[in-house]
Amino acid sequence: MIPLENYINGALSPAVNKTYIDVYNPADGSVFAQAPNSDKEDIALAYQAAQAAFPGWSSTSIQMRSRILIKIADAIADDLDALAVAESMDNGKPLSLAKRVDIPRASDNFRFFAQAITQFSSESHEMTRAINYTLRQAIGVVGCISPWNLPLYLFSWKIAPALAAGNTVIAKPSEVTPYTAYLLSKICIAAGLPKGVLNIVHGEGAQVGAEMTKHPGIKAISFTGSTRVGGEIAKVAAPMFKKLSLEMGGKNPNIIFADCDYDQMLKTTLRSSFSNQGQICLCGSRIFIERSIYDKFKQDFVSATKQLVVGDPSDDKTDIGAIVSKLHFDKIHSYIQLAQEEGGTILAGGKVIQPKGKENGWYITPTIIEGLAADCRTNTEEIFGPVVSIMPFDTEEEVLQYANSTDYGLSCTLWTSDLTRAHTLSKAIHAGIVWVNTWLHRDLRTPFGGVKNSGVGREGGLDALRFFTEAKNICIKY
Ligand code: NAD
Repeated sequence: MIPLENYINGALSPAVNKTYIDVYNPADGSVFAQAPNSDKEDIALAYQAAQAAFPGWSSTSIQMRSRILIKIADAIADDLDALAVAESMDNGKPLSLAKRVDIPRASDNFRFFAQAITQFSSESHEMTRAINYTLRQAIGVVGCISPWNLPLYLFSWKIAPALAAGNTVIAKPSEVTPYTAYLLSKICIAAGLPKGVLNIVHGEGAQVGAEMTKHPGIKAISFTGSTRVGGEIAKVAAPMFKKLSLEMGGKNPNIIFADCDYDQMLKTTLRSSFSNQGQICLCGSRIFIERSIYDKFKQDFVSATKQLVVGDPSDDKTDIGAIVSKLHFDKIHSYIQLAQEEGGTILAGGKVIQPKGKENGWYITPTIIEGLAADCRTNTEEIFGPVVSIMPFDTEEEVLQYANSTDYGLSCTLWTSDLTRAHTLSKAIHAGIVWVNTWLHRDLRTPFGGVKNSGVGREGGLDALRFFTEAKNICIKY
């Protein structure tokens, strides 16, 4: 049993109340670690430490902050193998995916913002006999709250820009996947991050996350997670006039026209449907196919999906690992049942399996459903698992109406070789991110976020640095 600890004021410690939360390995359902079950008292200590560290950290030179963040990035890259094993064990994702994507990206996040801050500049506006210049100052103590699907990747995506901009941070990883956040604490200590600059507090969202949200001294909250929790945070934080960045759920459309590069589309659609067991906020779960290629696509997609290997996440041959928790497994399973009640036909998957030696793990075979209306619950509510629905369409107008018919608006993928159509639809789609003839092709400088119930604000590049700073205009008359 691995005992995890909070990282407060530069040191590792249990929760003040000395109670713990069990942490499960989804591959076999066993408890492998215990995380501090922190509460109000731990947040109070973290706040004290962060507040005391703020004057020093915010006035450190940009070069110094950048150097420490690069040290952290290097240490993550050096520990890639161990961190990937930890991430896979905690989350159930294939080890190969953690090695290829999660951990390299966590290192890249620190490196990217370490460099970005050295290039960050503010505006000046000249008038007749006066000049305005804008200062961008660190906000103070800020809160970062992240989900379980890409644990270290999304945790670092918030922490790195917050620290680079000179804030001190209280960060809460998901209680479902706390392991790599704990390992990050050790990396930060070894990298010489001054005490109190980053404080990682483990625990339940309803206790630790809620306490961060209502703490009057925490001036901004950057949250990634479900739309329901984002709404709860907004309800508490908005009347306190905190800065809020909310990255929330999605129900992303994947629109396929007959004139696309078919082979490339098929290969990528398999990935965009089932990577990380479909537990990426950017996965396309509603697949619309132009009617003239619908039957061919259906046959090829079903056949390719059936070849995906579901199994032990640590096995290199595994494509689809375990679902992150029993609770989430039950939710996905209930949606597969709902899809059938709503008149859908399961073309592939939909089954619960237990690989040999992993009889207590939580595995669902990648599932394709057809025959559902675009506006049914299965097609409008977020499932966040290896479940997609395929639907034919005839015209651009029709598919645009389907694509925009949910409350969400995170991302969309378009497959077409018609440039005019690509531009026209990209503009009309309700989404913060549109990929044309690709998926998850990420440049960390670009704005990242959603519209409608998928989010408020943008992360990434200068948007993140702007979020984590307060602009002050100074007008000088001469
Ligand atoms: P969640 O909303 O249940 O939890 C997210 C985080 O919020 C966790 O750390 C949790 O402990 C905390 N939390 C829970 N209740 C809280 C409260 N009352 N106050 C403050 N914090 C609280 O989400 P999840 O199940 O961990 O993650 C899955 C969701 O995240 C999906 O909806 C997915 O679409 C979304 N997601 C969105 C993006 C994006 O960029 N838009 C990226 C990844 C995941």
